Amino acid sequence: MELYNTLTQKKEPFVPHTPGQVKMYTCGPTVYHYAHIGNLRTYIMEDVLEKFLRYDGNQVDRVMNITDVGHLSSDADTGEDKMLAGARREHKTVLQIAQFYTDAFFKDCEKLNIRKPDTVVPATSRVADFIHMVEVLLEKGYAYEAGGNVYFDTSKLENYYVFGNQNSEDLAVGVRDSVEEDSNKRNKTDFVLWFTKSKFDDQELKWESPWGLGYPGWHIECSAISVKELGEYLDIHCGGIDNAFPHHTNEIAQSEAYLGHPWCKNWFHVLHLNDARGKMSKSKGGFLTVSLLEEKGYDPLVYRLFCLQSHYRKPLTFSFETLDNAAQAYQKLVQRIAALKADGDPDLEAAAPYQEKFKEALGNDLNTSLGLTVLYDVLKADLTDATKRYLVGDFDQVLSLGLLEAAAKGAKPAGKELSAEEAAEIEALIAKRAEARKNKDWATADAIRDQLAARHVVMKDTPNGVEWHVGP
Ligand code: AMP
Ligand code: ZN
Repeated sequence: MELYNTLTQKKEPFVPHTPGQVKMYTCGPTVYHYAHIGNLRTYIMEDVLEKFLRYDGNQVDRVMNITDVGHLSSDADTGEDKMLAGARREHKTVLQIAQFYTDAFFKDCEKLNIRKPDTVVPATSRVADFIHMVEVLLEKGYAYEAGGNVYFDTSKLENYYVFGNQNSEDLAVGVRDSVEEDSNKRNKTDFVLWFTKSKFDDQELKWESPWGLGYPGWHIECSAISVKELGEYLDIHCGGIDNAFPHHTNEIAQSEAYLGHPWCKNWFHVLHLNDARGKMSKSKGGFLTVSLLEEKGYDPLVYRLFCLQSHYRKPLTFSFETLDNAAQAYQKLVQRIAALKADGDPDLEAAAPYQEKFKEALGNDLNTSLGLTVLYDVLKADLTDATKRYLVGDFDQVLSLGLLEAAAKGAKPAGKELSAEEAAEIEALIAKRAEARKNKDWATADAIRDQLAARHVVMKDTPNGVEWHVGP
């Protein structure tokens, strides 16, 4: 397949170090709060990538860390420890917070049909490995101690800004964040490998180390976990675009200095999900979660479809109007599949060209929207129902929209049980529509009717007034 590589800023053939065996590393969530649907956009697209690599005949070893220590609010070395802030907010210990939000993250993933990586490693379980890596970096002269902390010396590298100008916005933020920070640093891009001088008197988690009681910097966890689990040559490393700097830049610096050779050839970054206020972020608050979408009556897989309709390398703007469109598209798709007769054998010869087209679409820098077009083409094509069902199941190994399962359930509405709040909202809209009709305000009445239709509300006039239900 061809994939865009942030490192070379080009789309290029993806060739694993050992052909047919892909070693894939994913930066996991910082578990101090629920994942928002922006984070989950990144995990959905990474899931599609992993599944497509398998579909394309590779074996994939995938590792994800869980950040439960060391991630400060700036992404650089300033600000508050995110985990500590979460614990304080909820009057719990850091480990309780970590456990709770790790579980919540994987529950969300399950709802979105995101496969859990085979290996998931909480950072706090590998501190001995981080200490070892820092020791080697000190021995090799890539690190120094100052003011009780250990820093990576970026001046020892020929090329520190490996991701070029492409992420200049992110670079600017990282550098700005670094400017206010501690005078122990020899260069402003140096970063902390090990803290002993905590800025927080009450830092909960500390470990013994050759440099005193302390805790690791954020970046070291991904280098150490990746090298230990996946070896010295990583094929692909993924994350959201905000990870490119400083996090991935610093990972490359550490790993290559430690290993003494180039480490990871391909870097896959998913562009952000934005809302009306800009990038969705946990620290800004007011973010949307999978549970919130469910409360509003959306099937989480509608959100998955919403993400697949766009290319991962374009920013995606979220609104409920566009999500409603995805809900309708999902419902129609499921209805069409439910209408296919279930008996008979597929014609594999007739199916093959569609499988090729699907591979071509996804193999072209993971063009998921084109992949969906191939699915629509199949449903329209002159193929037997059995062949169509076969192809839907085949493509869904990658798309993971639960299409055959949803169709088997009888093309249920894309939403789920309504909450009392949602039912009250619908009642209010119906009353407003009746009022508008009474006043012959057809524009308003029609607009409300469309809003109700988008929520799959079916209305019937009866002598007792309007009766309604949410239905297909
Ligand atoms: P965090 O839990 O903050 O460490 O982030 C988890 C993942 O979500 C990382 O790969 C981030 O780059 C990614 N991410 C954060 N915000 C967004 C966003 N608004 N849209 C897409 N991905 C995001
Ligand atoms: Zn990472």
